[in-house]
Amino acid sequence: MDKSIDPELLHQCAKCGACTSVCPVYQVTGRESLTARGKLHILSRLAAPGSAVYSDILSKCLLCGACSEVCARGIDITRLLISARSSLPIRSDKHFLAKHSTIRNLGSPALLSGLSSLAKIAGKTIRKLPFDSGLRRKLSFLNPDLITQSHTRNQNLLSRLQPQKTKKQPTEFAYFAGCLATHLYPDIASSVFFLAQALHSGKIDKPTNQACCGLAAMAGGKLDEARRLAKKNINVFSSDSLPILTSCASCFSQLKKYPDLFSREPRWYEKAKKFSGRVVEFSSFFHERLKDGSASLPPDCDDLNKKSVYYHDPCHLRFGRHQIVSEPRQLLTKITKQPPVELPLGPQCCGQGGLFHLSHYDLSCNIFSHLLDEFDQTTAKTVVTTCSGCLLQWQEGQSESVKPYQVKHLACYLADFITETP
Ligand code: SF4
Ligand code: SF4
Repeated sequence: MDKSIDPELLHQCAKCGACTSVCPVYQVTGRESLTARGKLHILSRLAAPGSAVYSDILSKCLLCGACSEVCARGIDITRLLISARSSLPIRSDKHFLAKHSTIRNLGSPALLSGLSSLAKIAGKTIRKLPFDSGLRRKLSFLNPDLITQSHTRNQNLLSRLQPQKTKKQPTEFAYFAGCLATHLYPDIASSVFFLAQALHSGKIDKPTNQACCGLAAMAGGKLDEARRLAKKNINVFSSDSLPILTSCASCFSQLKKYPDLFSREPRWYEKAKKFSGRVVEFSSFFHERLKDGSASLPPDCDDLNKKSVYYHDPCHLRFGRHQIVSEPRQLLTKITKQPPVELPLGPQCCGQGGLFHLSHYDLSCNIFSHLLDEFDQTTAKTVVTTCSGCLLQWQEGQSESVKPYQVKHLACYLADFITETP
């Protein structure tokens, strides 16, 4: 992946419009220029883009991949848009400061490690804001109560894991935690460890010094930064060839794309290919192991805890080269003995989109409110998902819902289910 776009690719668009019907941004704006067709048209006509309007149009995309999925010409639209973003003059984007500092913070372990403490300080300010304040909603990812709960739960789960640590069994897989599980909600990581133990599926190790997966940098067109983070992660996991499990859908999709970043660096391309070939999404990993008999359900895991739960599909698992849609549902059904409820109109994007939420907050909320209307029609009182961005969006939207609901990472939900089953 690089800054130059092959003009031939832009002219491949047949203008059929199939992409408009699936684009979440088009659905709430009705603007043709914001569809894949519209953006490709603009890219094909403007040779030297640099205006704020042009940057704004390119930034109004969630990179969800729904358009590429239905495109009869098979155009990799998100890849083209990322290349286009990477060639924009840095100050042409009116949100460049916010995006730049987010990408910079995600790339710095020192800054990220202070996030929990920052949340505690910010919490006092957040509580003073009016309940319906937009700023309060925007800062809800720093909710100190949720972060404290997560740390307490993390300690409980870790204390249950202690006996396993003393066993001299070989490590069977490595774990890539991602920024949310590392710096804000550590109970996601300990839930994955707990599941590995409870399902008897092998010893897991979390190498230290992992970096951000680099998705935000790539989505913002900062390809050099995305490469720097990718190289760091490839090196961190290079001491063995174990499968690399990740519990974040967005990280999974980015780690799988590492080879795309090194098309001009053959040595790193080979390393990245080897690395991404080892990456496995956690729910499909446990599902496969239960299916082939190399993992088993705990004996006391039965159906006494039946609750109505909705599984939200992250776009990064719903579209693209590595689609994982049925495995999380099947794992959930196998453990809880109850299939998750579905939305009347089927899976929908939550509108978070990382940097998109930061720079186009109203659009992001608007897309989410459509999803919430659907969710409100179901019997579910719990939302589970596996993407860091989707989790934050669902948490943030709790105040908007006509019915109260809980939000949990799928790993946390399953670990809770097993620990609470009498
Ligand atoms: S990636 Fe998603 S938001 Fe962007 S143009 Fe395609 S469908 Fe629309
Ligand atoms: S679906 Fe593909 S070919 Fe059709 S208009 Fe959209 S981008 Fe062009």
